[in-house]
Amino acid sequence: MRILKVRLTNFRNFQDETLEFGARRNLLLGANAQGKTNVLEAIHLLGVGRSHREHRDANLVRFGETYYRVEGEFEDIGVRTTIDVTYDEERKRIRINGKESKPSDLIGLVGVVVSSPDDIDLVKGSPGNRRQFLDIAISQMNRQYLISLQKYVRALAQKNKLLKAVQSGRVRASETAVWDKTLVSAGAAIVDARLLFLKDIGPEVESNFGVISGMRTGIDLAYDARGYRPGGDGATAELLTAAMEGHRELEVARGYSLVGPHVDDFHLLAGERDIRRFGSEGEQRTGVLALRCAEVTAMKTKKGRYPIVLLDDVFAELDDARTKALTALISNYDQIVLTSSRPAPAEADDLRTISIVDGKVEGGGSARESGEHT
Ligand code: ATP
Ligand code: MG
Repeated sequence: MRILKVRLTNFRNFQDETLEFGARRNLLLGANAQGKTNVLEAIHLLGVGRSHREHRDANLVRFGETYYRVEGEFEDIGVRTTIDVTYDEERKRIRINGKESKPSDLIGLVGVVVSSPDDIDLVKGSPGNRRQFLDIAISQMNRQYLISLQKYVRALAQKNKLLKAVQSGRVRASETAVWDKTLVSAGAAIVDARLLFLKDIGPEVESNFGVISGMRTGIDLAYDARGYRPGGDGATAELLTAAMEGHRELEVARGYSLVGPHVDDFHLLAGERDIRRFGSEGEQRTGVLALRCAEVTAMKTKKGRYPIVLLDDVFAELDDARTKALTALISNYDQIVLTSSRPAPAEADDLRTISIVDGKVEGGGSARESGEHT
């Protein structure tokens, strides 16, 4: 789907503003701290049900206000879809074409991939960043994954509650096992889907890395399961079961569950070395860009359409050669919304530039258009 417009009400530094997008390339132009990333955040919210950089919805509400609302209009081969997300007094509501909907109805409907400076956390940050990358990417392509994830998260919360109760002597340790069946079946489905996804995108990441960096480097995406070694060969459930058994005493002692996809991780290896430890700043940035671009291609392959690609300041830290290479790499994509503090070079012809100043669209909402709608 393509986004046609978005209306932001009390969202971050926007009071009430509507932005209209072009079918292909859109540049959100503005000095620092004007609201460019906030717009990408709003589009991500419509695609995935949540911000890409803030997990507390209350922080997305404009200072001093009590609610936010983001309304988007989308189009896919002539069919219009409206999505709006409102957050009001701790309650979040999603409506698709005016109908109250669940987050699981939303995720995957539009298809979005975001790349931002925060992505460096995919290399440098905690495992939670990488799990979130996998979960959002795969959920948008695979509804069954999302369902397994929801089942897993619920069962995990119940098991952890019981483990706490065991600690305080209210429940016997053996009783926590009632949740293991769900944790194993949903958990194995999650782990297997992650392994498959990493295997699928591996060659693409390697080729993207080569294109952007101009160097041939062997890239591996290594899934790091804590306490077991899944091979994606149908034995994951047994391996998980055994690992859970093996950790039962320790889990009781700690009071929470220690084995499963909620603690797993993956690593990006360049030339067999973890890029987190041995990569230069530039290599790490190249690595995460290669990963994001592979996510875009995977989505196109799985769903038959490109996602909306949100690029936040991605060119800011790249040298000229890498900028050129990345520009070529993304030239096939369908709709892109990118941010920059500098205008695009004059030769960009199918570009719509939207200037953002202090939470407002300069020129009152009707952006300058230099290209045609296709
Ligand atoms: P940069 O080029 O530095 O990345 P940007 O244009 O992407 O800048 P944003 O991250 O979109 O800037 O943020 C713009 C402004 O929004 C910031 O000054 C920030 O203080 C403000 N802001 C963030 N959250 C809220 C909120 N909940 N209410 C009001 N303003 C907010
Ligand atoms: Mg920004």
